[in-house]
Amino acid sequence: MTPADPKRWRRDFPLLSVRAHGQPLVYLDNAATTQKPRTVIDTVSRFYKTGNANVHRGSHALSAQATAAFEQARSTVAHWLGIEDSATLIWTRGTTEAINLVAHSWGAQHLRKGDLILLMQSAHHANIVPWQMLAASREVRIEAIPLQADGDIDHEAYHRLLEQRPVLVALGQVSNALGTIYPITDLCREAKAAGATVLVDGAQALPHFDIDLNTLGCDFYAFSGHKVFGPTGIGALWGRRELLESMPPWQGGGEMIEHVSFDATTYAGLPFKFEAGTPNIAGAIGLSAAIHYLNAQDRVAMDAHEQSLLDHALDCCSQIPGFRPIPSGARRVSLVSFELEGHHQQDVAHWLDQQGIAVRAGHHCAMPLMQSLGLPGTLRASFAFYNTHQEAEHLALALEQLVQSQK
Ligand code: PLP
Repeated sequence: MTPADPKRWRRDFPLLSVRAHGQPLVYLDNAATTQKPRTVIDTVSRFYKTGNANVHRGSHALSAQATAAFEQARSTVAHWLGIEDSATLIWTRGTTEAINLVAHSWGAQHLRKGDLILLMQSAHHANIVPWQMLAASREVRIEAIPLQADGDIDHEAYHRLLEQRPVLVALGQVSNALGTIYPITDLCREAKAAGATVLVDGAQALPHFDIDLNTLGCDFYAFSGHKVFGPTGIGALWGRRELLESMPPWQGGGEMIEHVSFDATTYAGLPFKFEAGTPNIAGAIGLSAAIHYLNAQDRVAMDAHEQSLLDHALDCCSQIPGFRPIPSGARRVSLVSFELEGHHQQDVAHWLDQQGIAVRAGHHCAMPLMQSLGLPGTLRASFAFYNTHQEAEHLALALEQLVQSQK
């Protein structure tokens, strides 16, 4: 294994050398969005400088070139996830749109009055609200899979809920609020054995480790490009071919049709059936540059570095009076969700911001989780491979100074 070298990685990310409030920026809000390596910035810029044209419909060289780059990007991202059949990877704006696509198209086709959908107590709102909107119109029931006090999923409760034969189980692979890594392959296998269709929200997993959709065991997988060092406004939905083929389109317009007439319109095949309108071409090409970047790194070394950052941050912070990490299960990504007793989270975030440290405070789009924890919100420091041990120490020092200043 190549030794981790965050300094070398940092050089690839121009934004990491900016200053905030006159201090070197310590960017610990990676779960919200990640910074972009130079190759992504250059690829997007090069596309607009020398390659910009619309895709799939032009009869000129530039359009053919843009189409080739756009479709090559699809193959790059598909192969990264272990998918040979890249037509089963649908471009979306991100995880939210991918889940909405499944809710509108598959959900409207398959869910009937009285059916049950299982969601996770810790789900991001993107994996709750689209199902609630559907449930309201179809009289479908929703139940939440609870967590144990230690933050892990309550397996017994999950098994009991599966006995009710849910039609859909929508899981999260990693909690964005706690960082918990759920045993996704087991959860998918159990849901499939109970006869459910399974969707996995992978938004917070892919920034930290590679996955293989051949073995994960879900039917649909959603993620966002901006969380994996790619541009905003691009992401993807993967689905099993037979499911995608049987699903109706969810948005209508250009690109998604085969033939249009006022008598009868027919739709294109995969993946275009689900990609109405001009897509985010530069975004897709930029995302593929991010994946090439990740593929060229040693992701095992990156993961080891992130885990050591997590341990170091917890070690340093545990010395601080009132620091209370929120239980986050046996396995988690490099994310610390915590409270500083006696201090409002927004005040702490503001103080850290003044020191150049960017964290997130609040409910992290996981209000049902916060309700179950009895908290209005938490502070969240989320690390990426380009963060350093010194940055973790800087966080701890700033928290310590805040506590001391209020004595
Ligand atoms: N799911 C999880 C677990 C997330 O962390 C996020 C974003 O924070 C989303 C879904 C929504 O992603 P996007 O806003 O990119 O669609």
